[in-house]
Amino acid sequence: MNFKKLVKFNIKNFVPYKSARNICVDGSIWLNANESPINNELLVLNKNLNRYPNPQPKNIILKYSKYSKVNVNNILISRGIDESIELFIKVFCKPNIDKIMYFSPTYDMYRITAKIFGIDTINVFLKDYNNFDYNIIKKNIKFLKLIYICRPNNPTGDIMPEEILINILNFCKKTSLVIVDEAYIEFCYYKSVVKLIKKYSNLVVLRTMSKAFGLASVRCGFSIANLEIINILKKFIAPYPISTPTCNIVDKFLSNKFINFMKKTVLEINENKNWLFNKLKKINFIKKVFESFSNYILIKCVSSDFVIKKLESKGIILRDQSKNFGLKNCIRISIGTKLECKKLIYELKNISYKNVF
Ligand SMILES: *Cc1c(COP(=O)(O)O)cnc(C)c1O
Repeated sequence: MNFKKLVKFNIKNFVPYKSARNICVDGSIWLNANESPINNELLVLNKNLNRYPNPQPKNIILKYSKYSKVNVNNILISRGIDESIELFIKVFCKPNIDKIMYFSPTYDMYRITAKIFGIDTINVFLKDYNNFDYNIIKKNIKFLKLIYICRPNNPTGDIMPEEILINILNFCKKTSLVIVDEAYIEFCYYKSVVKLIKKYSNLVVLRTMSKAFGLASVRCGFSIANLEIINILKKFIAPYPISTPTCNIVDKFLSNKFINFMKKTVLEINENKNWLFNKLKKINFIKKVFESFSNYILIKCVSSDFVIKKLESKGIILRDQSKNFGLKNCIRISIGTKLECKKLIYELKNISYKNVF
């Protein structure tokens, strides 16, 4: 049998998401997946592994509620933000009728997940936030169910101004959910819009333990929204989204001790980012260094391919963003430890301008 022929027609020629872990290269300095450079190790005793886990463990919800300052009734735990992105599309979008919107260049999983479920996408290319075109929402409002906003945005590192977000929320108050992906919000926590949940019932905020908390391997995320939305999601989420070991680890990391540790790490990463930003600006084959509210910096080079390969030969792994519309020759650099940043600058300086051309 030709199994390929069995695959749904609309995704037959689907190009899968290339996760950083899929890209097999040798390296010693990994600056390609926006992970924390600090390794977390933890011994936890996992009891009752023969039993299914609690679907929505109350201890975790209570701790996350304290941390995020939202009510326990407004929180749903998921297997990372990626499960939440999928859940919203599964629950709210009718194939071939409904649409989702996102602002590119951005995180690719909104597009990919929609595509897998046969949902049309409206991809709005956002060059900058001046003259934001609300007409594009107005024009599509009839079938527009979800608007995904990555804030701060991956891979550019910028952040949609709160005024624009509020205008969007008001604009589709009765028609669409606005889903703000705050995967990196700890790196600019004062910018969080979680406080707006009470006022705007169509606002959803997505959070994760994967980035600032340094628990990418653990797979745990949160959807924050009004009670009605949370109750709808609960009906459709997988029966046991997070495992007992995940639950035990996250419980530890949401303690005051580890939250303080996370905050210290964030300060360190932000310091390294500012250091790196100034150094990168002085390198002559880098044409643009994007300002970032997150734990990565986007740069535009003369030839991204050349720079990526050159650094790869030195064991430093970066992420090419050239395939993104509008980001030709752009590279995303995750912020590592100070030593990793220094090694990166050292190797970049060794690339001479002549070679790049
Ligand atoms: C890394 C990332 C995610 C994935 O988060 P998980 O909780 O690990 O699934 C979601 N959104 C953005 C913007 C990301 O960069």
